[in-house]
Amino acid sequence: MDNQSHTSLLSIVVPVFNEQEVFEEFYRRVSNVLSSIAMQAEIIVINDGSNDETLQIVRTLRDQDSRLAIIDLSRNFGKEIALTAGLHKANGDAVIVIDADLQDPPELIPELIKEWHNGYDAVYAKRKARDGESYIKKSTAHIFYRLMQRVGRVKIPEDTGDFRLLSKRAVQALSTLNEHHRFMKGLFTWIGYPQKAVLYNRDPRFAGDTKWNYVGLLNLAIEGITSFTTAPLRIATYFGLITAAGAFIYGSYMLITTLLFGNDVAGYPSLIVIVLFLGGIQLTSIGIMGEYLGRIFNETKQRPLYFVNRYEPSQAALKTEDLVDTPASPKVTADKIR
Ligand code: UDP
Ligand code: MG
Repeated sequence: MDNQSHTSLLSIVVPVFNEQEVFEEFYRRVSNVLSSIAMQAEIIVINDGSNDETLQIVRTLRDQDSRLAIIDLSRNFGKEIALTAGLHKANGDAVIVIDADLQDPPELIPELIKEWHNGYDAVYAKRKARDGESYIKKSTAHIFYRLMQRVGRVKIPEDTGDFRLLSKRAVQALSTLNEHHRFMKGLFTWIGYPQKAVLYNRDPRFAGDTKWNYVGLLNLAIEGITSFTTAPLRIATYFGLITAAGAFIYGSYMLITTLLFGNDVAGYPSLIVIVLFLGGIQLTSIGIMGEYLGRIFNETKQRPLYFVNRYEPSQAALKTEDLVDTPASPKVTADKIR
């Protein structure tokens, strides 16, 4: 393809949240890789409300390297939205999404680009091994992916993070999805287009701590399931039907035996068991419905996904965009998705 020659642009989108220990090393390794690639590049850093020195570090680097762009969000919106903000500003013919903590080796980028040249729209990095992660995290992740494959309509590839390359049209497709509950791995898959996996070894975090805890991961799992499938609602319905049928059969049996033989002692134990069982099922079903109701509530508010405190474009962006919207004007701050 002609447009993928020297003049084509590669955007690297990297969300950062308190990555002061890591970012310089990340930048060094990415720059190294970029110098071996025959493409122009821009590195879009989204500062997701860091409260350490991250932003200053990135600014200092940007003063020396005009390939860097900074989207400073107005607060911490979470990785998924930070990523989206980056995708909205990416001008590249190909866009790489990567974590700053060097768990995604930048050295893999040329391979991703190779598959893009082969005509794939989404090239995702699939990890072979998970070093430096606990056994519990590995096995819960495994169960989660299996569960998603089972109940979701979308087959999210197992053992993939957000590290991937997206073609321009894949990024454009993603930009049309403006839901608030963004389960990115699911959305990446949902848009379709030819997709291809590239295998790699996932490194342990270079420095700093993961921003995820187990509650966070559980929330992400619930997010993933509820934003891609209504199967839990169906399961609740089945539970209801089964218990109703059971209750009907048992009720008929009680009625008949009472009529035929009379009833000596009222069965307190069976009564309490049934009451507790039904109560449990009802509460679970209401909880599941509540999860979906909450999502409907959040989506109907139609709020913008994020606000930008300040946007400092890359050189490449300055060339491609007519910067009619000056930074800090209300239009930019209310950066609604296109
Ligand atoms: N991140 C972010 N906002 C957040 C949490 C994380 O932008 O609220 C960024 C973080 O700086 C890193 C990437 O998302 O570049 C992945 O985060 P982390 O390594 O904590 O997640 P994990 O690799 O454990 O899934
Ligand atoms: Mg990480």
